[in-house]
Amino acid sequence: MQQTSDNFIAAATEALHNDYQQATRDFLGQMAPKATAAARANFGDWDALRAHVKRIREHSLDHLAYYLEQYEAAAQADGVQVHWAEDADALNRRVLEICREHGARRVAKGKSMVTEETGLTPYLESAGLTVTETDLGEYIVQQAGEPPSHIVGPALHKSVDEVRELFLRKHDLGERALDGPPELVAEARTVLRDTFLQADVGIIGANALIAESGHSMLVTNEGNGDLVANLPAVRIVCTTIDRVVPRAEDATAMLRLLVRSATGQSVTAYTSFYGGSRREEEQDGPTETHVILLDNHRGEMLEGPFRDMLHCIRCGNCLTHCPIYVAAGGHAYGWVYPGPMGSVLTPLLTSLEASSALPNACTACGRCAEICPADIPLPDLLRDLREEESQQRLNPRRWRLGIRWHARLLRFPRLYHGLSRIAIAALHRLGRRRGAFQSLWLAEGWTGQRDFPAPQSSTTFMQEYRQQSRQSLHSQKAQHDGE
Ligand code: SF4
Repeated sequence: MQQTSDNFIAAATEALHNDYQQATRDFLGQMAPKATAAARANFGDWDALRAHVKRIREHSLDHLAYYLEQYEAAAQADGVQVHWAEDADALNRRVLEICREHGARRVAKGKSMVTEETGLTPYLESAGLTVTETDLGEYIVQQAGEPPSHIVGPALHKSVDEVRELFLRKHDLGERALDGPPELVAEARTVLRDTFLQADVGIIGANALIAESGHSMLVTNEGNGDLVANLPAVRIVCTTIDRVVPRAEDATAMLRLLVRSATGQSVTAYTSFYGGSRREEEQDGPTETHVILLDNHRGEMLEGPFRDMLHCIRCGNCLTHCPIYVAAGGHAYGWVYPGPMGSVLTPLLTSLEASSALPNACTACGRCAEICPADIPLPDLLRDLREEESQQRLNPRRWRLGIRWHARLLRFPRLYHGLSRIAIAALHRLGRRRGAFQSLWLAEGWTGQRDFPAPQSSTTFMQEYRQQSRQSLHSQKAQHDGE
């Protein structure tokens, strides 16, 4: 099935029928929130840290031009060549130019959502370069010819058996058992060792850029980032303009939030700060270092109503807390960023018209906003996108008509409540025997996937609420009179 955001409903439907992946995601949806909640609870004053980082992000974005200039000057003074890329094409072109200037044929890549966003790997491959992902999850999905399904764990949807079959097919290493994860990891490490040693160019991302020093910060759990950054002769850091913060301590404050929210760890295995190339007296490190700063609509976001989304630290916590992501999986979103953060980012970075199903998939349960370490009001942003979609008349005519009639009806509360009473009583009566409806007029979107439960009583929520409020008032009055 083609992976684009405009076929979200079809792709999500397909994912719902994949039992193995469904079970994996259910497990993930239970375990990941527990792990990150435990990490938050063990931290101490989590809310104070969250508020502190929010102030850092707000301050950095308020003075973005200033800090970017400061970063550029400091990085250049350290020997880094800084480039600016307005869009995905500009970043891809610049990377290819650098590769060609050095006659590069082999590229090793660390994990980078930015290069996923620009489609760098297929771009370089179409120009004849060999590009190898070196993060284990990214390596697995690259070998499988699939996109990542999660921004932190790209191959979370893959079973051990699938990875074993993949490695047996892809690695020409003769007969072997590959009995479990340790053997699979060892084999990937053996294969990737040559990639690190033979690569002409290493491409990494950055979790933060530090304005005062001109350094970039990268966190990984596998150490592949350091090998990619330091073994090839040319290092290219691909990142976005919104990653800049004033000082190193601001980046490490963000790091505290990030690791606990991403994996539930208290610290990542590797946290590295990269400056310029190797100095004369040094024996290791690249001989040339480039940093490419991508805008790709972030400048517009900075000035507009979706600015809060620039606070995102890409922890992925909103994904595993989202019932839609857990049900549909990352591939259904059809682009780089899945889950609630992706449902906001995809329309902003691509087009609302091509991805309008994403904000509409939100159930407005609010869990993502509760746990987002960057305090991003994701449900509000999703609702704003729906509103924009409605104003641009992008949703299907049938929906528009439905919403318009519903809005008209709500102007007459008595009529609305009266019709609700009739509908609930009728559904209760009709569905009483089976307890659910397998198909229901105007609710095919629901009944296409699951039964629609019949109302358990013939009264509406408002009737029940009023009745219980009256009873509670009577009992309070009786208690008062008794005293
Ligand atoms: S929106 Fe919040 S929870 Fe989701 S990835 Fe970004 S920072 Fe993490």
